[in-house]
Amino acid sequence: MAPAAAAAEKGRQHTGKAVGLAAHDASGHLAPLTITRRSTGDDDVAIKILYCGMCHSDLHSIKNEWNNAIYPMVPGHEIAGVVTAVGKNVTRFKPGDRVGVGCMVNSCQSCDSCDEGFENNCRAIILTYNSIDCDGTVTYGGYSTAVTVHERFVVRFPDGMPLDRGAPLLCAGVTVYSPMKHHGLLDAAPGKKQKHVGVLGLGGLGHVAVKFAKAFGMKVTVISTSPGKKQEALDRLGADGFVVSRDDEEMKAAASSMDAIINTVSANVPLAPFMGLLKPNGKMIMVGLPTKALEIPPFDLIMGNKTLAGSCIGGMRDTQEMLDVAAKHGVTADIELVPADYVNTAMERLAKADVRYRFVIDIGNTLKNSE
Ligand SMILES: [Zn+2]
Ligand SMILES: [Zn+2]
Repeated sequence: MAPAAAAAEKGRQHTGKAVGLAAHDASGHLAPLTITRRSTGDDDVAIKILYCGMCHSDLHSIKNEWNNAIYPMVPGHEIAGVVTAVGKNVTRFKPGDRVGVGCMVNSCQSCDSCDEGFENNCRAIILTYNSIDCDGTVTYGGYSTAVTVHERFVVRFPDGMPLDRGAPLLCAGVTVYSPMKHHGLLDAAPGKKQKHVGVLGLGGLGHVAVKFAKAFGMKVTVISTSPGKKQEALDRLGADGFVVSRDDEEMKAAASSMDAIINTVSANVPLAPFMGLLKPNGKMIMVGLPTKALEIPPFDLIMGNKTLAGSCIGGMRDTQEMLDVAAKHGVTADIELVPADYVNTAMERLAKADVRYRFVIDIGNTLKNSE
């Protein structure tokens, strides 16, 4: 960021009041808390939050499972709402616009990654919550009534994209769309062979991955530990195949068949059996975040020239593009809309993977701007 801009941000006033659902310790219990929001700067967009998706990382974060919690913590990075005010330099938005904010709210805006549209890889990335902002304050996320964000980090909801079912796309959607794009899976040029992608884990990320992959004409196989999800995966989400990962026969039958696997699993599971599902030159793309180090025998990587790749959300350009193509193809998340006072119960259910497939908090109707 240019020095003048940085100086201006240091002098930011935090005069706005909002109410957030905050965790105060590693119990992760969320309760309403009055917070401040900065006044609308020249490049800022002020947003009244209407919906916020509940991502699995919110659960990890509030319980300090990544050992980086700053309390009080207001989680939430799948934010959808309406613009209430804009700063004088803002050109892309006006009051009344339907907008979203995902996992980040600022970056240096001048490094190679930022210049190339990969703010997600900027070393100075400022995350939407639990991050130190450029004025030294701690960022609070979307489980709150309002937020003020630099224009660059705001995306537009296309017409026809519902705010509630679209909110989860801001993390879950771009997290699976971006690697599909950058690993060449969306490439469906005429005459090219249809790509076969495996989706490992059918949860918040996985169900959106299936929808995007189908929208782009890929063959999709869901790989899951739960045979109970088979019918749903095939009939309702439109997957072409389903492999129960604990069933040796099914795993054997699917061996060497996939061009790539989007691995959405956040549990600590060995990778070796899944590497065997990849064709030669196949790619295992990690988007889930297990807490332990990955274990993979080198043999399973080297034989067949496999690639083990990671992918972290996506840049702002990809996020907008993802929302636009999702609207075009009718891709939205399957959600369970819950009131603000249900959030602790929802977290307990999320911990048990008891949700199909994303909880979204109905902020606008159930979280009031006073405690
Ligand atoms: Zn997330
Ligand atoms: Zn940067």
